[in-house]
Amino acid sequence: MKIQFLGTGAGVPSKHRNTQSIVLNFMDEIKECFMIDCGEGTQHKMMYTNLKPAKITKIFISHLHGDHILGLIGFLSSRNFLLNKEKKDIYIFGPKGIKEYVTFNLKISSTVLNYNIHYKEFSKSNEILYDDKNINIESFKLIHGIESYAFKLNFKDKKGTLNVEKLKEIGIKPGKICREIKEKDFFEFNGKKYISSKFLGEDKKGKKIVIISDTLYFSKLKDFIKDVDVLVSECTYLYPDEKILAKNHMHMNIEDINNLTQGEKIDKIYLTHISSRYDKKEIEDIKKSLKNNINLVNDMEEYEL
Ligand SMILES: [Zn+2]
Ligand SMILES: [Zn+2]
Repeated sequence: MKIQFLGTGAGVPSKHRNTQSIVLNFMDEIKECFMIDCGEGTQHKMMYTNLKPAKITKIFISHLHGDHILGLIGFLSSRNFLLNKEKKDIYIFGPKGIKEYVTFNLKISSTVLNYNIHYKEFSKSNEILYDDKNINIESFKLIHGIESYAFKLNFKDKKGTLNVEKLKEIGIKPGKICREIKEKDFFEFNGKKYISSKFLGEDKKGKKIVIISDTLYFSKLKDFIKDVDVLVSECTYLYPDEKILAKNHMHMNIEDINNLTQGEKIDKIYLTHISSRYDKKEIEDIKKSLKNNINLVNDMEEYEL
């Protein structure tokens, strides 16, 4: 499970930071990659990584500001040419207007795709955007100049590993029945009924990942991040005394992040959507002042989750 930041800047691109895009690489877990936002230049950045556009099967758009969507049409168009014969559909989840934005732009540029796009537009908090046996994803409404959303990815708990010794005791050798034991609550062997859980180790807890896009700080955000393992958040302004500035621009600063994460047990925190007002030296100094579970990320950085 990996996360790669293709763009970590705010508003407009700068020499060191592209506009927003994050790829969650779940190839080892569910054979898919998810993209969160697609700022201008995203497809170009992707060329310098091991990521493949064909492997991106779901795109989540937090809001319709340009720094989050201006790369989408280019990405979708190029993806057309990069699919080797395989026709891989894509799902786009976004606030109302995303479908119109994509279809209009594809139409006016006479772009014909050889794969289908499935859209899901949403307009409120706690909407389950997607749900399958491995994962569900829900929305959470933020406070920004336009409708903006955070996403929570809940990986489902997985059954524990089989206790081979215990199975041996009742005469079961590894084989087909082992799959049944993992999948069903009860199983039968030699005419006797058994409770599956007695032959399994503890459930493996599924990871919870929250991505917070552009927003003002507000107290309900704290409820939304309860029990998460990984938090990715916008933090446009990096000094505590820039609180008013952040508020005026409907963004968060480092003090908001400290308030948000205070008292929460979060394994890993990644801060992105960084203003271009800080030079490299300032960024390095600020990084040193952060708690060790907080990463202030740069473009192209990849982390194991
Ligand atoms: Zn933004
Ligand atoms: Zn915005």
